Amino acid sequence: MVSKGQGLHSRSSAVLDKVLTLLSDLRTTTSGRIIYSHIEQMLGEMVADHHKTEEAYASFLSMLLEACLSQIPVENPLHTHLRLLQMRLMPPLSVSELGALNRCIEAVSDEMVSTAPLRSSDLAPALTPLLARFGVLDKAPVVTPRPEPHQPQAEQRVNAAYRAHLDEKREAMQRLQSDFVEQMDEAVAEYDAFGELLDSALKVMREVGHADEQEKRRLEIIQALQQICEGHKALAQKFSRAQEYLGLIEDDNQQLSDELDRVRLLSLTDELTGLPNRRAFMRRLEDEVSRVQRHGAPLSLVIMDLDFFKKINDQRGHAAGDAVLRHYAKGVLCIFRHHDLVARYGGEEFAVLLPNTDQEGVCRALKKVRRRLADVSDQLSEEGMLLPTFSAGVAEYSPGETAHSFIERADTALYTAKRNGRDRVEVHTGDDIADIQGRV
Ligand code: GH3
Ligand code: MG
Ligand code: MG
Repeated sequence: MVSKGQGLHSRSSAVLDKVLTLLSDLRTTTSGRIIYSHIEQMLGEMVADHHKTEEAYASFLSMLLEACLSQIPVENPLHTHLRLLQMRLMPPLSVSELGALNRCIEAVSDEMVSTAPLRSSDLAPALTPLLARFGVLDKAPVVTPRPEPHQPQAEQRVNAAYRAHLDEKREAMQRLQSDFVEQMDEAVAEYDAFGELLDSALKVMREVGHADEQEKRRLEIIQALQQICEGHKALAQKFSRAQEYLGLIEDDNQQLSDELDRVRLLSLTDELTGLPNRRAFMRRLEDEVSRVQRHGAPLSLVIMDLDFFKKINDQRGHAAGDAVLRHYAKGVLCIFRHHDLVARYGGEEFAVLLPNTDQEGVCRALKKVRRRLADVSDQLSEEGMLLPTFSAGVAEYSPGETAHSFIERADTALYTAKRNGRDRVEVHTGDDIADIQGRV
């Protein structure tokens, strides 16, 4: 099979050959040969330039499509459409491909209007290498997108797409349900008619006296029973259709609840670390605070912040910073117990909520974190990676206080730990902040 790239080459070369054939008479004289070879060289360069320009346009369009793709959820059919279009974007671009591209871009822009605008942070990684290639920028800068641990915009987009989808589903289900109710009403009405018919048949049978009148009545009853049989068959069909409807409603219900679970999970999980995000943390905190207010068990909160984390990003790059966060989440903070909640609270901050745990319990847990951190750091140092130390602020819930004040106290203790030199833990005791360095 001939690829599109080769096609372009041979088509341009064919045009070039045609022009050169037309000019071949020039070659009979010395000066003509010189002119001919100049034209040949010039046309050759033009074809090569044309080829390069088309390639550049195609790669530019492909990069733009990539940026658009990053804005459209994978489950949206437009995503697949764009991906296919992107795969076909190879020079030479035919008029029909440009038409398809145009239609797609229109669809994307409609989609964008209903979701969210393209952000420069999404476009920049796609465009800067291209601009650099064409000399518009001196050098492609390393683009470090602002970290968005909670990704509210992304969540909103996912939620908007899903909400529209779920609304559609809900409407379809409502239609099915009202059809079903109609079918059932009809079935009930026919059953009523069936009962009335049987009643009157019985009455007639009881009242009939003479033999010929009996025969007449018998025939009437046979006719009525035939009608009833037909009605019964129709009824059976309606019931089986109603059963199908019920099956469809059940399937849709299952799909709907699966999708709702997915949306819920997406909106409560931090993408980078897989830990519950700040929203999930806040929900659980509210629950725990109201539980403690009723039952009065101890509840502790730790807010941890990695020390000098920015240096890792600056010196080793953003990807190395991300890897550190993942190692912390999966390798170090896994020591907490199952019913403790470890969440990504901010960029390089983690929050841990420890139900039924007092200050002493927190100290023991943080001691384990320290030991685990040393072990993981030792293992990773063989791969040339260093895990930073952490500072932490601890608060134990004091009866009657709001979730907000509880967080604020842990935050204040964290701030003090930073101010006192980092790599340490401070506890907010209510009136004061205590250094528990010896115990952790
Ligand atoms: P300190 O000891 O005072 O906490 O210093 P620090 O450098 O850890 O704190 P600072 O607040 O100055 O910097 C935090 C850095 O964390 C800046 C931000 O770019 C980076 N960051 C936040 N979220 C992410 C992320 O998801 N990935 C990466 N790689 N970096 C992130
Ligand atoms: Mg911080
Ligand atoms: Mg920090």
